[in-house]
Amino acid sequence: MKISVAGTGYVGLVTGVCLAEYGHTVTCVDIDERKVALMESGISPIYEPRLQELMIKNKERLSFTTDYQGAYKEADVIFIGVGTPEKQDGSANLTHVYTVAEQIARSVEKDCVVVVKSTVPIGTNDKIEALIHSNLAHDVTVHVASNPEFLSQGSAVRDTLGASRIVIGVEDEEAGQVLQTVYKDFNAPIVVTNRKSAEMIKYASNDFLALKISFINEIANLCEIIGADIEDVAHGMGFDKRIGDQFLKAGIGYGGSCFPKDTKALHWLANFHDYELKTVKAAIDVNENQKLKLLKKSRKYYERLTGLNVAVLGLTFKPGTDDLREAPTLVNIPLMIEDGANVRAWDPVGIENFKKLHPEGITYCSSIEEALQEAGICFIFTEWQEIKELELDKYRTLMKHPIVLDGRNCYQLADAEKAGIVYDSIGRETIS
Ligand code: NAD
Repeated sequence: MKISVAGTGYVGLVTGVCLAEYGHTVTCVDIDERKVALMESGISPIYEPRLQELMIKNKERLSFTTDYQGAYKEADVIFIGVGTPEKQDGSANLTHVYTVAEQIARSVEKDCVVVVKSTVPIGTNDKIEALIHSNLAHDVTVHVASNPEFLSQGSAVRDTLGASRIVIGVEDEEAGQVLQTVYKDFNAPIVVTNRKSAEMIKYASNDFLALKISFINEIANLCEIIGADIEDVAHGMGFDKRIGDQFLKAGIGYGGSCFPKDTKALHWLANFHDYELKTVKAAIDVNENQKLKLLKKSRKYYERLTGLNVAVLGLTFKPGTDDLREAPTLVNIPLMIEDGANVRAWDPVGIENFKKLHPEGITYCSSIEEALQEAGICFIFTEWQEIKELELDKYRTLMKHPIVLDGRNCYQLADAEKAGIVYDSIGRETIS
């Protein structure tokens, strides 16, 4: 089966590489010439564990190009995996998806199935189908199927090769059959629905997870006020199978390219249909406040950060990725700088991307120790393993004042106490 994939971001490239790993011949298309040149030379333009290794392993079955016409014209299946970012009003920006749909319509010279992997509002697959049919340059049959993606950044390859489920939304049996063939070697449950239900499964899943995070964060905030410990509370809750023990980790809120935009897009869509999704709105509001929680806590220790060395550990929105989209650091660090802080930041993979946004005004450090040197306060924004494994004594020996504000609850309270540091985390007693 000849497969093409439009877009080589976290979803498109991982999809293409994993399909090649399962024996398909895949052409990956992107408009970004720099990315394509990198991939052609065997280098992944994004950081994801195992991605580059599998790109090299499957290089015989993988090709990369900006020539969409060549890639689409004789493909059996074309996946759309381009971005659907947030518009100012919260709705999804579908420009890239519609552009690809038009490019496909002008290029295809044989019957094919177009598979929409990008997260798109309910009803978009219908519009894509109409757009393709009205722009077809050749007399061919094009089916459109919805196949939303559930991978998490940081474990994208593992999540794709061992998917929790593969959702296929189709309006005709033929497209369903083709997708069953594409995924025949994937050992995952296949859920076949109509297209609108498939589109909704994606939004409902992401929004439910966002809601779970915001819920535990609110409980954490209350724990702090009344003297309970959120780690114990979450542990005790997680044994209940109806609740589950995943996504009960309190912190400074969710970020990334999906939860923030997918909550807002579904809320917008509901509003558009005169319906208010109150729970989703609450998840969004709680998250906005939670992002600033550490900065608010810092006021307990310093009225202002002016002239202070401030260590920032972790820049990315989660560990295992170099992605900064909607990372809490993007709002917090500019506020610290505005307050006059000397920000000294460390991240194992996110620095290059952060530098593109903030080339000046931040000292980028190549080790945690360097960031902590002479710092008056330290903020932990991402739970990287290197941070979790740091000897806590280092905060005391390297910092001017060992005040650690931990937005990801990386340490045990007893260890912080033993190390003799001030340790202020989320939903737990402050050690001082
Ligand atoms: P991304 O921004 O990382 O990548 C999108 C890529 O598409 C870019 O490389 C861009 O250059 C390319 N592109 C734009 N227009 C193009 C065109 N006309 N032809 C070919 N390529 C084009 O995006 P992403 O994070 O991979 O997300 C893609 C979609 O998948 C979004 O809808 C997102 O919501 C969804 N999704 C993302 C994740 C995730 O964790 N990132 C998980 C599940 C679903």
